[in-house]
Amino acid sequence: MPSPPEDCLFCRLVADGDHVYAGDGFVAIRDINPIAETHLLVLPERHIDTFREIGAFSDDEAGRMLRFVAKTASASGLEDYKVLVNVGEGGGQTVFHLHWHVLGGRFDTGKLARALDLDGAA
Ligand code: 5GP
Ligand code: ZN
Repeated sequence: MPSPPEDCLFCRLVADGDHVYAGDGFVAIRDINPIAETHLLVLPERHIDTFREIGAFSDDEAGRMLRFVAKTASASGLEDYKVLVNVGEGGGQTVFHLHWHVLGGRFDTGKLARALDLDGAA
């Protein structure tokens, strides 16, 4: 695995961000520009650029990541929610360190449309 880019924002937030939940190699943080009442980001501590490179994770690590996403939602009191991964620039990804958006409660529909890049290519 190549070393992560030194200027990766999410590597920095993994190291010294405000973690809502942490454990098992993953952290959850609050999105700085929430598009829903609850908007958390789940980040693997280990840097990979995008979901496209998920093959770099072992089956065990990938499974633990999915369980951490589900735990983040339930620990936040969410029963019904959305999980979103933007993949690549055309898919609306702006930060190139894999992350899962966990979205629940009331949505800002304008921001949601922009986050889903509904006018974009993907
Ligand atoms: P993407 O567009 O790559 O799927 O999502 C990146 C997300 O990171 C966006 O929802 C954006 O609001 C969030 N974000 C960008 N910079 C920061 C930051 O400095 N701190 C936090 N907590 N979130 C950020
Ligand atoms: Zn990173």
